[in-house]
This record gives sequence, C-alpha cells and structure tokens, in this order.
Amino acid sequence: MQRAYVHNSGGVRESLQLPAPREVALQPASPERLIALLDPAQVAAVTAAMSRAPMALGGRTTINVNSTAAGGGVAEMLGSLLPYTLGAGVDTRWLVIDGDREFFAVTKRLHNHLHGVRGDGGALDGDARTHYENVSAVNAAGLARSVQPDDIVILHDPQTAGMIPLLKARGHSVVIWRCHVGVDEPNTLVRGAWDFLRPHVAAADAVIFSRAEYVWDGLAAERVAIIAPSIDPLAAKNSDMPADAVAAVLAAAGIQDGASASTGALFVRQDGSAGAVTSRAELVEVSRLTPSTRVIAQVSRWDRLKDPVGVIDAFAGHVAPWSDAHLVVAGPAVGAVSDDPEGYAAYVEARTAALAVARPARERIHLATLPMNDLEENAIIVNALQRRADVVVQKSLAEGFGLTVAEAMWKARPVVASRVGGIREQIEDGASGSLVEPHDLGAFGSAVLGYLSDTARAERTGAAARERVRAHFLGSRHLLQYLDLLSSLLKE
Ligand code: UDP
Repeated sequence: MQRAYVHNSGGVRESLQLPAPREVALQPASPERLIALLDPAQVAAVTAAMSRAPMALGGRTTINVNSTAAGGGVAEMLGSLLPYTLGAGVDTRWLVIDGDREFFAVTKRLHNHLHGVRGDGGALDGDARTHYENVSAVNAAGLARSVQPDDIVILHDPQTAGMIPLLKARGHSVVIWRCHVGVDEPNTLVRGAWDFLRPHVAAADAVIFSRAEYVWDGLAAERVAIIAPSIDPLAAKNSDMPADAVAAVLAAAGIQDGASASTGALFVRQDGSAGAVTSRAELVEVSRLTPSTRVIAQVSRWDRLKDPVGVIDAFAGHVAPWSDAHLVVAGPAVGAVSDDPEGYAAYVEARTAALAVARPARERIHLATLPMNDLEENAIIVNALQRRADVVVQKSLAEGFGLTVAEAMWKARPVVASRVGGIREQIEDGASGSLVEPHDLGAFGSAVLGYLSDTARAERTGAAARERVRAHFLGSRHLLQYLDLLSSLLKE
C-alpha cells in the first residue's frame, strides 16, 4: 500500500510516497543440522547457546531491517542466518525499507565514501542530509507501525541509520546498527561519511562492525561490537552438489554446453518443495563453455569496487597468453538489486571492456547476468558456477567482508583475491588462498596461473580454505556472538 507523508524541510513542503516496510517471509531452519557440520570442539558451546537463546532474550522479537531482499551480501546473510534464529525459538522478522531514487543515490554515495571512493561525485551536503532525513522519517514512521517498542531492532547499513534516533525517540528499548562497510585506512571521504552518519548512529544502543579496523572515531567504545559475517553451508548457495548436477545446472541456465538440462537441474527448496532451474542467464560471449574448459570465475554484484574491468584486463594481459582457461564474470540480472543505482553502469563498463579485448583472449571471456526472478534458482546457479571454477577470483578494490570469498572457500576452491578489507581476515596468503595487491594485474595473473598449473597445490589450498571457513565463518559462530551481545544489552 502506498502511503503519503508530508514533510517540512527547510521551509519547502515535500511530499514523499513510499510503501510501508515490506516483510520478507522466513522459514525456520533447524540449528542441529548446522551444528552437525562443526568440529567437535565447537559443538558444546553452540548447542548450549541455542537452547538458552529464547530465555536469554526474554521472549522478545528481533527485527532486522535493510533496504533490499535480494542481491548483495547483507540480503544474503539475513536470508541465511535468520531462519536459524527462528529455528532456535527466537521470534525473528526481516523488514525491507524503500526509498526514492534520490535517497538511494545518497546512500550509494555514502557506501562509496565509506569505502574511500567518490562514487557519483555528488556531495554529502545539506540537501543530501535533508532528503536522507526525510526518507528516514517516513520509513521510521512506517516501521513503528509494525513493530513493538520492546522488540529488538537491528538496522543494517547506511540506508537505515537515519531511523535510529527516531526509533529511540519513539521508545524502542534496543536499537542496534550494523555497518557492513569499512576500510583499513580512512581518508577524508570516509571521515566525511562518518560525520554525516554519526549524529544518527550515536543514538544506537550498540554498533556492530565486521572488523576492529573499521570502528569509527567518536563512537563510545563500550557500545561497539565486532562480529564478522558468515555463510550458511546448508543454503542452496553453498550446499554440496555433485559434478553431474553442477554440469546440469549450468546447462539449464545456458552457461555451459555439453550436459543435458535434465533431472540434475532439480533442487530441493528451503520449504521442502521441488525446484528446477528453468531461467537462463544472459551471456555476452564469442564461444561456449564446455564441460572440459578450465574456468576462472568471479561472481559479484555489478559494482566498480568489485573491479570487473580489472578482472577482464588482468585475464587478457596476464592469464590468457599462458593458459587455455576461460574467464566467467557473473553478476545478478541488471536492475535486480533495488538499492544499487550504479549496477547498470558498472555492467556496461564491464561489457565494453570485454568487447574491447583482442582475439584470441576475447574468445575466452564470458559475461553472465544471472536470473534473479527466483532467488533459490539464482543461488543454485551461483553454487554451480563457483564449484565449476578451477580458480575463483575476487579482485575487489575495497571489500567490507566479501561473502563470495567465504562461499568459494567452503567449496574448497583456491581463491585469488585482493588484499583488502575483510578478505584479509578470510584468506591466509599462501595457505588457504592467495592475496594480491588490488592494482597489481601481473601478481593476480601469476597467482591464478600458479593454481592452474599445479592442481595438487590447488586442491591442498582448497581443502585448507574449507577448514578455515568451518573454523571461523559459519553461522554458528555468528549466532553465538549475536546472542552474547543481545544478552548483555538486555541486562543493562
Ligand atoms: N550474489 C548472488 N547472485 C549473483 C551475484 C552475487 O546471489 O548473481 C551473492 C553472492 O553469492 C554473495 C553476495 O551476493 O552471497 C555478495 O556478497 P559480498 O559480501 O561478496 O558483496 P556485497 O555485494 O555485499 O558488496
């Protein structure tokens, strides 16, 4: 339903039409299945925590709020983690706020500035602030209608931060803000974004960052918590998939020739019903992938900070001349990520770069936009593509965490990634993958070629990568940390 609100901003009456925050349906998942994948040392702590969770939270509902239900790491993480909190007996909801084009332009600018880059070049000035606060007021009013004051509200990323003081003023007892973005060395753009957001964020009962290095100046230390993201090993995105199913899914999605798109492309949905891969990816390519082609893959949102153009240039200049491998650069169907206004431009740049590569390297570059109309189908395709890759790459210029890295590591893939942000926590260089400087295309090429030419080393690295994720980056660890934080806030 559309609701109209009228604001008085700087003497100008401005009318915003926004839908009420949208509920994302969640199905409970049993934490026991997750616990079964842990090593024995972790099991006791996680089992005990899960059983005390509902009591520890005093029967309160936890409400997670972000600005897209699909595409990107936050949506991915909420979609995989929240079913387990429901399954553990904690009443859990997920709501998605909306905004207009100008609001998402400002929040993408904030996102870029928090990563230390200028983005669209626009300013975070008084007009940007006024619009940001107006939309936040509309969303906070919408949210207040569907949540109770003693619910625990967890807001994610800059799109939601403007609601913090408004929800506190309405009497919400616990409001937490989680920032999924950060850089190791803040520049003036980063500090400008902190200054823009700090008056809102300072009102939160707790602020969560993914790494200690990301904590902003000027926040009360006792209100800050560090919690790294995680992946769900049982989700469609990460669950085990035999090689024939990988081939069938890629064939059904039109990404690879050679295997018939028959029963192998069937999968079981989270609600237990049967699913099948029927939608096709859109490909920009000269030749087709076959089951015997060696593959290097990057799967990411279309975002300049993921550097798809750099991946293409590094492949063309530093991998293709010495290897017969193909490159697949894949991302969601353009326009499917509702809070990301720059996706189309980033995709067009990648396509232009791919088309500009000279033959024969050009013949081995495939750009794939993956269907997003059915998120479980999309997840199965991503799963198959990551498993199909001989080497997974993540050549980001900045990265808060990089779920795609953990996803590929769990699939025992050797990953070559940039030494930036949260990727540095995930990969131990030389042991569980390779880290390279983000602008060093030559080093990127040699690391990829190193794995392609030594399959025993690639396998050893993949096995170590999977164990690293098991020890540090599964949802069980994440849920324990959340429970500790919430218990301590409720005791205050
Ligand atoms: N992703 C997806 N479909 C796609 C492309 C990406 O589901 O077509 C997922 C990817 O598997 C990962 C998430 O989007 O789970 C991206 O998270 P990450 O932390 O790597 O980056 P972010 O998008 O948050 O910057």
